[in-house]
Amino acid sequence: MPFQVKDLKFAKDALDGISEQTMTVHHDRLYAGYVNKRNEIEQALPKADRSKAAQTYSEYRALKLEETFNADGIILHELYFDSLGGDGSVPEGAFVEQVRKDFGSWEAFIEDATACAMAARGWAVTAYDVSDGRIHNFLCDAHNHGGVWGSIPLFTIDSYEHAYFMDYAQDRAAYIKALWKNVDWHAVEARFQRVLAAHHA
Ligand code: FE
Repeated sequence: MPFQVKDLKFAKDALDGISEQTMTVHHDRLYAGYVNKRNEIEQALPKADRSKAAQTYSEYRALKLEETFNADGIILHELYFDSLGGDGSVPEGAFVEQVRKDFGSWEAFIEDATACAMAARGWAVTAYDVSDGRIHNFLCDAHNHGGVWGSIPLFTIDSYEHAYFMDYAQDRAAYIKALWKNVDWHAVEARFQRVLAAHHA
């Protein structure tokens, strides 16, 4: 199969305020489900009848729509999991410098990312937009909605209920507050450095 489930880099019971049960359902069931469905779509696409492609309904259209839904579901979840397992400490470096430039202060960035996650029906995505050279928090109501072409995601907050309902019921603000204690900003810094090296080589 071309797409594989990536293991978590931390134990499922290692997070502070996000339970083992939530991580098990989120990683092993929901995220793995996107990987499986993307593989299924990859296998079905070559066989779909191109001559019947239509915008109202067609097998080809349905597969192409769900291709981006599942592809982005994988990408956004892998970023989410890869950005957890830390202690929330923020290393000095290129990422924090860029954030201060684009948001005025680290605190203003956190305030904006929190607001974005509170307002989204799916995701808040912190991304570096190659077209303007700035970091933005983008709001996504679904995995394949709200992305800006050419921007590279660096950090995500999953704001679907499945990310917090078992731990906090409807209290999303409490979940986001807990999330900040678990972010691995060192991983985000390393990711941003790789992006800069690739785009400014
Ligand atoms: Fe999720």
